[in-house]
Amino acid sequence: MIFDLHSHTRCSDGSLEPLELVARAIDKGVDVLAITDHDTLDAYKGLSLQQGRLGLVAGIEFSTQWESTGIHVLGLNVDPASDAILAGVHYQTEARRQRAERIGEVLEKKGVPDAFAGAAALAHSGYIGRPHFAQYLVDIGRARSIEDAFRKYVGDGKAGDVRQHWADLPRVVQWIREAGGITVLAHPLKYKLTRTKLKRLLAAFMQAGGQGMEVVSGQQNPQQTAGMGQLCQQMNLLASCGSDFHRADTHWGELGKFPALPRNVTPVWERFS
Ligand code: AMP
Ligand code: MN
Ligand code: MN
Ligand code: MN
Repeated sequence: MIFDLHSHTRCSDGSLEPLELVARAIDKGVDVLAITDHDTLDAYKGLSLQQGRLGLVAGIEFSTQWESTGIHVLGLNVDPASDAILAGVHYQTEARRQRAERIGEVLEKKGVPDAFAGAAALAHSGYIGRPHFAQYLVDIGRARSIEDAFRKYVGDGKAGDVRQHWADLPRVVQWIREAGGITVLAHPLKYKLTRTKLKRLLAAFMQAGGQGMEVVSGQQNPQQTAGMGQLCQQMNLLASCGSDFHRADTHWGELGKFPALPRNVTPVWERFS
């Protein structure tokens, strides 16, 4: 069985419509897929959880921060109609809008004109994020590529990386748990923390009610998988895995294509009811 528990659609910053993503997942041999758009459940509107031979697990990827690090928390197997999670989505959507205005101001100071309006025009739903600012920077010739725009303007630690608007970690965890979901720290290796600091993050996450971590996120080498598996076991967390698919290009992993979970961990799906 292939479980891919992390993916995106056009409802946030992916390129495919929900049904196109489902079709691609089936084509790639995925058995169980979680669509986990950033701070929104829109993909599940009118989508039944059984799609031919593919099972869907309702999910979301919330943005928050811990100390000075921007982090992402997945909610898996949530009830997408729960009042708690809908209140969370509402809060984060408003936070995103305010943050986008702030990013616009910050970029203005860097000599980039009309970035908020430019990014908003590129967004096609409630989600407006750094990828839209990056695209705008490319379109007006201020960056050579999306990568270049992240490197210069909106990537982690750069001026446009505004994070103080998000709900805090305990609140995000609470929304997910009240919606009957399991909380998973997304892509722990992406935060580029030392192992000591990552352990502190995981301890704070668990203190807040966090239950699992992604042991496998897209392509990673065997040492990384073993290291994350060991950490997961040591911290007594559930283990998750996913591609974090956004679009079919080299920057993002393909649906269902990532290393298997190590044997010594408890897969998060054992707790799906
Ligand atoms: P936001 O939700 O506005 O914080 O934007 C974060 C999103 O930007 C991530 O989920 C990625 O999809 C995307 N992203 C982050 N870094 C890069 C990068 N270097 N190149 C392309 N996309 C990126
Ligand atoms: Mn993304
Ligand atoms: Mn993420
Ligand atoms: Mn993601």
